[in-house]
Amino acid sequence: MTDTPELTRHQTLVLDALSRAEAPASAYSLLDQLREQGLRAPLQVYRALEKLMEYGLVHRVESLNSFVACAHPHEHKLETVVFAICDNCGRVDEFSDAAIERRLKGWGKDHAFRMHSAAIEMHGTCGNCSAA
Ligand SMILES: [Zn+2]
Ligand SMILES: [Zn+2]
Repeated sequence: MTDTPELTRHQTLVLDALSRAEAPASAYSLLDQLREQGLRAPLQVYRALEKLMEYGLVHRVESLNSFVACAHPHEHKLETVVFAICDNCGRVDEFSDAAIERRLKGWGKDHAFRMHSAAIEMHGTCGNCSAA
């Protein structure tokens, strides 16, 4: 990401809600939270989410069918995003790893596959929950 694009009101509301959230949020829970601020239809939420993902400010966590605010929107140097998802408390940590990305791209090279992006979702138990 270079410059943060000008966000619309809806996009700002959705991004703020995701930034406040402790765990990934579904489009419907976002709609519930933002109904009073004027978001009435699922389509409005989906449109905002789509743009925010395009800008690299939000990611979709496929296995949860939910969305998270990017943990480091201004320094995404890698195309591979890894999510560590705690199945106990719902916490999601996002990180990137150059070695993983090299391996994926290496496979792509060997198989004439051109990778644009990749997301890896790890499920398990976070440090807090393991300690408890
Ligand atoms: Zn990110
Ligand atoms: Zn946990």
